[in-house]
Amino acid sequence: MTGEAESDRLRRCVELAAEALWAGDEPFGSVLVASDGRPLAEDRNRVVTGGDATLHPEFTLARWAATNLSPAERSAATVFTSGEHCPMCAAAHGWVGLGRIVYVSSAAQLAGWLAEFGAAASPVRMLPITQVVPDLVVEGPFDELADEVRELHRRAVNGHG
Ligand SMILES: [Zn+2]
Repeated sequence: MTGEAESDRLRRCVELAAEALWAGDEPFGSVLVASDGRPLAEDRNRVVTGGDATLHPEFTLARWAATNLSPAERSAATVFTSGEHCPMCAAAHGWVGLGRIVYVSSAAQLAGWLAEFGAAASPVRMLPITQVVPDLVVEGPFDELADEVRELHRRAVNGHG
């Protein structure tokens, strides 16, 4: 995939994160892309509307991949995502044998933003993906989109004003 196509995928992740926010969920979105660049599946966070705090898009895509893709297809696929995987999602990604991850903003950036906005502390410690799945190829953050993601999180914490 070209760099331009990759930034289009990341832009779609930010759109999905915005859709999640408008629906009342947390602003995260992810796209699973095949080795030839075809998008295979996408999802957004559904923790509020789905009534399940594990309904993170990265976790949903990992389970979709386990059901629908061969091991070879999974290892050649890329997950694009608006925010770096949490430890639960990183573990799911690693367990099902998915390939590269490309994220807009890092877990460390998110933790800093949430503290700045006065959000309640997360019950789960945020770790870099490679502390959970050491051999994974991970790229990010992408600063040209990170400000948009930061703004979505600000609105999620402080209301839409
Ligand atoms: Zn997660």
